[in-house]
Amino acid sequence: WRHRQVMLRNRELGRRIAVRTDELEVANARLSALAITDGLTGIANRHALERALARGWQRCLHSGESLAVVMADVDRFKQFNDTHGHQAGDVQLQRVAAQFAREVAGVDELAARYGGEEFVLILPGLSEAAAMQRAERLRLRVARVLEDAGLPGSISLGVAAVVPSADSEPAALMRRADAALYRAKQAGRNCVERAGDSASL
Ligand code: GH3
Ligand code: MG
Ligand code: MG
Repeated sequence: WRHRQVMLRNRELGRRIAVRTDELEVANARLSALAITDGLTGIANRHALERALARGWQRCLHSGESLAVVMADVDRFKQFNDTHGHQAGDVQLQRVAAQFAREVAGVDELAARYGGEEFVLILPGLSEAAAMQRAERLRLRVARVLEDAGLPGSISLGVAAVVPSADSEPAALMRRADAALYRAKQAGRNCVERAGDSASL
């Protein structure tokens, strides 16, 4: 009788442990997803971006392909917040992010919120010319979606690409995209500029 009691109790404990283990796995998966997701927009965050960039860099280093990055910044966003309020600003960022998410095609491609009102596209396998077309399409889509939503706005974009080599680094590629973005702002905003010559890498 006693032996039977112990057996039943063990079976019940085993069941409980199994349930708890399943719960932990679900919670862990949720945490992992949260760690790479931007809370406001639901797209990839800065951390996920750094990882995708490193992954894309390795892929293109081995295959000899070109790796392109698109860096974008919402135009005159401080003024937008001042005029319409921070909450409307948040919704605007969500709309912009949704267009970035939509632009992702290949498995290694990634759209991420770089921070604040800045977004980045990682495009392994794309030349600068091909990435320019994607960036221009994205610029038009964002402008149209914001126009349709009734609170018009725009983004400026900088595009850079490189065939990775042992003596170049991802950070330099990002710097060139950032410099191109800066020139897009200088050129009047709501436009795309390319980094061009990558000999300096
Ligand atoms: P520019 O065209 O030169 O980029 O001008 P800008 O006003 O967009 O640039 P600036 O860097 O002066 O301002 C960025 C603004 O973005 C200021 C900041 O309040 C706003 N911002 C950053 N993150 C968020 C956010 O999560 N939500 C909201 N609503 N605003 C944000
Ligand atoms: Mg900015
Ligand atoms: Mg801005």
